[in-house]
Amino acid sequence: MSLLPIPRGVYPSVTDISPRILAEKGVRLVLADLDNTLVPYKVSQPPPAVAAWKEELARCGIQLFLLSNSRKPGRARQFAEQLGIPYQGHSGKPKKAGYLRAMERMGVTPAQTVMVGDQIFTDTLGANNAGVAPLLVEPIRLAGNPGRYIRYAVETPFRLLGKRRPFV
Ligand SMILES: [Mg+2]
Repeated sequence: MSLLPIPRGVYPSVTDISPRILAEKGVRLVLADLDNTLVPYKVSQPPPAVAAWKEELARCGIQLFLLSNSRKPGRARQFAEQLGIPYQGHSGKPKKAGYLRAMERMGVTPAQTVMVGDQIFTDTLGANNAGVAPLLVEPIRLAGNPGRYIRYAVETPFRLLGKRRPFV
């Protein structure tokens, strides 16, 4: 764990993160962000590739868990139910409390957990705060909101540093 929110690798998408290698590293729980990590903003159907990844995680003994900050009523719940995974909305990332609550619920330690998300100052920073390895994915779609491009630009130095220290 580092003091700065530098991710442990940057991956094109969640499905590029190998469940087998995660399992070899003792991971039992993958906390995942929703928007721009598992699906684009506004999409609430789990894509087939994400469903297949979740199944492969399960075969490797790893539980996928939706850790969302979404304030839209029911969005996290609906997505998680369709994918068949546990979830927690209003998680308050980057505060560590939501991460700790999720790990306690699933009966695992920070060392057995990774966080997968697309944003440095929520997903990565929060994972750091909770002692969980932060894995960064490229945002699925930046279009639609100018603020996302600005944030992406600000995140760039952290992304470049993270590329040098992959977890898997
Ligand atoms: Mg996100």
